[in-house]
Formats: sequence, structure tokens, C-alpha cells
Amino acid sequence: MPQVRIRQIGPDGKLGDPADAPALVLTDAEWRARLTPEQYRIARGKDTERAFCGALLNNQTPGLYVCVCCGLPLFESTAKYHSGTGWPSFFRPAAEENIREQSDASHGMLRTEILCRRCGAHLGHVFDDGPPPTGRRYCLNSESLRFVPAIDHATRAEAVFAGGCFWCVEAVFRQLNGVLDVTSGYAGGTAETANYAAVSTGRTDHAEAVRIVYDPRKISYETLLKVHFATHDPTTLNRQGNDVGRQYRSAIFYADPQQKKLAEAMLVRLRDSNAFDRPIVTQLEPLAAFFPAEAKHQNYVACHLRDPYVRAVALPKVAKVQSKFKNQLKPPQEILGQPPSRP
Ligand SMILES: [Zn+2]
Repeated sequence: MPQVRIRQIGPDGKLGDPADAPALVLTDAEWRARLTPEQYRIARGKDTERAFCGALLNNQTPGLYVCVCCGLPLFESTAKYHSGTGWPSFFRPAAEENIREQSDASHGMLRTEILCRRCGAHLGHVFDDGPPPTGRRYCLNSESLRFVPAIDHATRAEAVFAGGCFWCVEAVFRQLNGVLDVTSGYAGGTAETANYAAVSTGRTDHAEAVRIVYDPRKISYETLLKVHFATHDPTTLNRQGNDVGRQYRSAIFYADPQQKKLAEAMLVRLRDSNAFDRPIVTQLEPLAAFFPAEAKHQNYVACHLRDPYVRAVALPKVAKVQSKFKNQLKPPQEILGQPPSRP
């Protein structure tokens, strides 16, 4: 695997020092499976979106613009400016290391193309008619970018847990007041194997996991931990019920020392109080990256209420969180109806 020198976001949420990492090399078929047709046409096919039509042209929310193909941080909102050209424009990249430049003689012009250093995605072009302090204009396609809003730590925090099938874990946490969003995905492995087919083999390091975005003023990390331990079995190694494999392990992916401390304290409490008949095998793992799963896996339970697996495995967990955490639920119209008494 070829290596590239890039700067990635560290656990503190800031750009780390330049470090060697494997380039992301996928086949054409894999890119097509991972991207929308528009994203593929532009980011892999070097096309250009129509001027004034891109979704991120007028975005002024503080945050980070990352590569749509591989998530590498590319531009910060602080360097975005209104160029009048019809494409999102920046006067400098988040990290020089993360952008590759090469000359482009297509369409009868001589231009400088910009590409993602890690995966080679076509991003746009760079010109020398930008504003101070750099005088450069990085002209981007919205379709080549994904926007990640800045986290205001007072009102937004994230937790990543694994406890078997992510459809079920996601459905559980969606019931809770103060939970703003839940995403099903993969944690514990690398980008190369972050897809359902690879993870399902049980031979990757990934666990099916959920990322919970919550408002810490309304629900605490500790309460989320309590809900997690009340709704999955932390005593079965690499399995939940009939779902067997390393991808179904029980794990807490801590993002910072505080989360680690709270999770450790919770495990000690559960062990000391003999809350479970058998030893707890939940793994505490540092969160390196979370990869959202394919769109069809998001909010799966609410969309498949008649599915036999959902009725047998997910809905009882939903019922459990609704009865055990009554005071922590969203308003009735926002939570899933009680599951049928008989499957
Ligand atoms: Zn990339």
C-alpha cells in the first residue's frame, strides 16, 4: 500500500502533526458503490458541477470541509470567502500536506488541479487571483466535499458504543431525550474495511457501532452508559444472542480521558454490584475513527417495523429502554410505538 504524509484530526479535535499513513486505493466498482452518481462523476471522474448550483456554495456555518471520498480534512470555514465565481472558494487549505497539486491541460486551458492527498479525489482547481493573505483561490466542487459542523462542546457531545447489531442499538438511543442524532456505522478498524460486506465476515477489526450525538445539558454520558448496559448483554464475548462474530462485540469507544474514566468507573460499579451473573467482557477501546454505514442501515428499525428480526430482537430492547428510562424519553410523538405483545 503506497504511503502518504498527511495531517489527520486527533482525539482532541485538532489537526495533528504530519504523519505517514496508507493511501486509500479502491477499485472503480468500490468507488461507485460508496459514492452517489454525482459525487462519483465529479470526485472520481474529474468533472465540474454547474456554477451556483453546489450545495455548499453559500454555507457559512463554522466547521470543517473534508474529502467526500475518504474524510480527510481539507478546508476550514475560516478560510472560506465569497468569490462570486459560483463555486465554494477558500484562500488556503486546512493543511498543505492534505492537498496535492498537478497541472491540468484539459479543455484547452492550463490550470492547476487540486486533489485529495490520501485518495486522489478530484477537488477542483487553484488560481492565483485570491484575496490576502495568500492570494490564492482554491475553487472547489461541493460534491467533492462533506461538511462537518464544528462541535460546540457545551451543547453537543458524541459517544460511540457497540453492543451487537447496530440497527438495534441505534433504535434504543433514538428514544432518549437530549439525543440529537444517532448514526449506525463501524468503529475499531480502518477505512479500507469500513463497509457492511467486509465487516460481516467478522475478520476485520471493526465492530458494528453507533455514534450518538447528544446535548450534555439534557443527558449525561453516564446515563448513556447506563442505557447501554441495560439494553445489551456485556457478558457474551463477540456475540449478542444469535448474532455471532467479532463485529458484534460489546465495546465502548472513548473519545477522551474523561469518557474513559466514566466508562471505567461504570464497569467497576457493575462488577462490584454483581449486576450480571457472568463476567463482563465489554472492551474499552480508544476511538480512532467512526465510519457511517451505508444509507440503507440508517434508522433501520423505524423503517422496518414488520421485519421478523426487528420484532424479535430490536423492539424488545426499545420496549426495555422505554420502561426502564421513563423520565429520560423524548416526547411520545417522537418515540417508537410500543412493540406488539406477540411477534
Ligand atoms: Zn480523499
